[in-house]
Amino acid sequence: MHDRRDSLELVDREIHELILAEERREAETIRLIPSENYVSAGVLAATGSVLTNKYSEGYPGKRYYEGQKFIDQIETIAVERAKALFGAEHANVQPYSGSPANLAVYLAFLQPGDTVMGMALPHGGHLTHGWNVSITGKYFRSVQYGVRKETGRIDYDEVRALCLRERPKLLWAGGTAIPRVVDFAAFAAMAKEVGAVFAADISHIAGLVVGGAHPSPVPVADVVTTTTHKTLRGPRGGMLLSPSTHAQALDRAVFPGLQGGPHNHTTAGIAVALKEAAQPEFRAYAQQIVANAKALAGSLLEHGFDLVSGGTDNHLILIDLTNKGIPGKKAAKSLDRAGIELNYNTVPFDPRKPFDPSGIRIGTPAVTSRGMREPEMKQIAAWMARIIAAPEDEGLAQRVAGEIRELCGRFPAPGGLGIGE
Ligand SMILES: *Cc1c(COP(=O)(O)O)cnc(C)c1O
Repeated sequence: MHDRRDSLELVDREIHELILAEERREAETIRLIPSENYVSAGVLAATGSVLTNKYSEGYPGKRYYEGQKFIDQIETIAVERAKALFGAEHANVQPYSGSPANLAVYLAFLQPGDTVMGMALPHGGHLTHGWNVSITGKYFRSVQYGVRKETGRIDYDEVRALCLRERPKLLWAGGTAIPRVVDFAAFAAMAKEVGAVFAADISHIAGLVVGGAHPSPVPVADVVTTTTHKTLRGPRGGMLLSPSTHAQALDRAVFPGLQGGPHNHTTAGIAVALKEAAQPEFRAYAQQIVANAKALAGSLLEHGFDLVSGGTDNHLILIDLTNKGIPGKKAAKSLDRAGIELNYNTVPFDPRKPFDPSGIRIGTPAVTSRGMREPEMKQIAAWMARIIAAPEDEGLAQRVAGEIRELCGRFPAPGGLGIGE
């Protein structure tokens, strides 16, 4: 790794220095964006390897290019590890990311104009679950469900009634801002009633699922889609898991339906991440993510924050800042200046615009990867409360940033070369 960095420095000092600066930034800040993480040095090494040189359209044993002796082995290992880890009959590790993985589901099972039902983006769903600006909301007839206003949670009777009325061909569960356990069995049952394909998108929670910290959709879903770079701690990529009955349709949808050559360096990184996720320590990691989120939520409540649904069951917390009298974007920017990185987010039934909504979204996967635990969560909540009470106090932001650098120094970021420490 060291000599590769040296050669980058020689070839392109500008990019080299920006990478080092980003590494330092990631090391010195508290990263609460719930979809982000730190990969291990092993995942980084695989991702930055010569595998990026190779074309391998097709699947192991059935390629359109020669020279696949080692690539086939790598992809087969990744597929076998995915199947074993999730208990699935079939796995496809080629989708370039989460969004292409989801598109493959449409291509495998739907015709243009068919009805798809998913969670609305402002309620916590993903763009690719039929939101109007996405191709999935333009080329298909989309019906969207949400959470109940009083509870901030999905009302399964309400969703079932909508499903019976609209009769979708494809039903999505999962999302990007859901702080509570998703009842995959309830979704599977309503999909079955109307003959819909049930797709569970576990992008955010895949690591919790393999670590036993969230129920798995694998036995009940027709297809499970996931990113590999969130709680799973792999490189940026996507994956499909399914019963063998859907294997051919899904494989054909990914290639040649949507993509050309797979990103073999990413496949190798996914294989490494799946090996790491199969270790007993990863189970402990997944449990600690949830324990940390609960601790953080508890402290935030003590500081008077209003949490959507009142708390969390998983890695994620959605905060409605209305009672603090500060919009989400302003809060996110003030916190960023102090070294706490998160994103502004709509809250369900948000009266404000998506570009400047009422909430912020946080999560514990990245800080847990650094080894932080409950006492640090309490400290983070206290910092957040101080900054949000005085968002324009530059002196305070600088003082907190210093305290945060000190804390981060005690919890080195995995994967880096220690430059930021
Ligand atoms: C992150 C995410 C995706 C999309 O993944 P990309 O890799 O950003 O394309 C899809 N669905 C859900 C629920 C996600 O959280």
